[in-house]
Amino acid sequence: MKIISINAGSSSLKFSLFDMDDKKVIASGLFERIGIDGSSYTIKYNGEKIKTEAELATHTDAVKILLDKLVSLNIIKSLDEIDGVGHRLVHGKDKYKESCLITDEVVNDLIAFKDFAPLHNPANVLGIQAFKEVLPDVPMVGVFDTAFHQTMDEEAYLYPVPYFWYKAHGVRKYGFHGTSHRYIAKTISEKLGRNDLKIISCHVGNGGSITAIKDGKCVDTSMGFTPLAGIMMGTRSGDVDPSIITYIMEQEGLNAKEVIDILNKKSGLLGLSEISSDMRDIVSAMESDDEQGEKAKRAFLKYTRTVTNYIAQYYVLLGKADVICFTAGLGENSEPFRKKVCENLSCLGVKLDSEANKVMGEFKKISSDDSTIPVYVVPTDEELMIALDTLKLIS
Ligand code: ADP
Repeated sequence: MKIISINAGSSSLKFSLFDMDDKKVIASGLFERIGIDGSSYTIKYNGEKIKTEAELATHTDAVKILLDKLVSLNIIKSLDEIDGVGHRLVHGKDKYKESCLITDEVVNDLIAFKDFAPLHNPANVLGIQAFKEVLPDVPMVGVFDTAFHQTMDEEAYLYPVPYFWYKAHGVRKYGFHGTSHRYIAKTISEKLGRNDLKIISCHVGNGGSITAIKDGKCVDTSMGFTPLAGIMMGTRSGDVDPSIITYIMEQEGLNAKEVIDILNKKSGLLGLSEISSDMRDIVSAMESDDEQGEKAKRAFLKYTRTVTNYIAQYYVLLGKADVICFTAGLGENSEPFRKKVCENLSCLGVKLDSEANKVMGEFKKISSDDSTIPVYVVPTDEELMIALDTLKLIS
């Protein structure tokens, strides 16, 4: 049984083809600059990687080439081998509480919810339409980023603003990275052999969110109405006082959209350090004793402080934590980031094993045996989660 996981962006399409018998990726790749000059695609299979320039006017062109290549490169014998297509979908509002078979209603809802994810929902629709055109008889499944967070209660998801904003306009916390947090909860529960864990899942990449999970269900999460809220990120501010927006509009002669754009694209690590949005650059700049070093340190300290604050908040919310998990770019790879956050949590009895904390991109316990809370690195795999949901729904 073979399933393709798809992540369609406005000008890109990422895929992973899984053999569901052993849950392994047979081929993966990326179609880039769709509808833009200089488009190309990369396919990885059998330890090889091919990159080719090709005219990709639409997502349908990309899907046609993808399927042709899977056959011509002998990755599959014929298209009949593809049993299902799973799509990463970003925003299902509070209607989609779990993954579902994609019907016309789902497509119409993605379009109707486009104001909630203007970059992502329309792109997701393009991906769905392309597969519908090229593989009309193959079932498709939608896996929403927001779905896992639908178990939050009112106390978690409401903002303290006029209630009618929620009722009339859907203003509430939705949360994102749900597929990743769900994968982390599933993986750590399986590894530890328990379904009743209180988990603090830290997905920290360029974007990042912290989620409190109890008995496999989301209790609260740091991202909000949009992915701008929560912890400080690569270029996003995370939580700030909203009055800053009108104040800076007046001081700098900007409009609201421009200020929000700065909060999304020029803040976070990049904004505070004035060096880079990438933690690797920040960590190496911290080593120097000059002004660059100072800039890097202040960004690093604020970043790790905001992550610590959410972990501490969720520790209290959950009543305790059975396990803290780190995942995504920084969570999986950045030794100094994890070290600082765990040092900040030392009053809770968290202790790292500094040798184990050198791990990069592998499942590993990184806390010492006398740590009150075990801390793990758990590499995320959203593509596999999408394929597993697809398998379940088409079976
Ligand atoms: P996205 O949120 O875009 O999916 P990723 O999860 O790939 O991002 O994370 C990207 C970030 O992870 C980079 O900006 C970088 O800060 C961090 N990162 C990746 N690899 C390393 C590494 N080896 N050491 C430290 N940080 C890393």
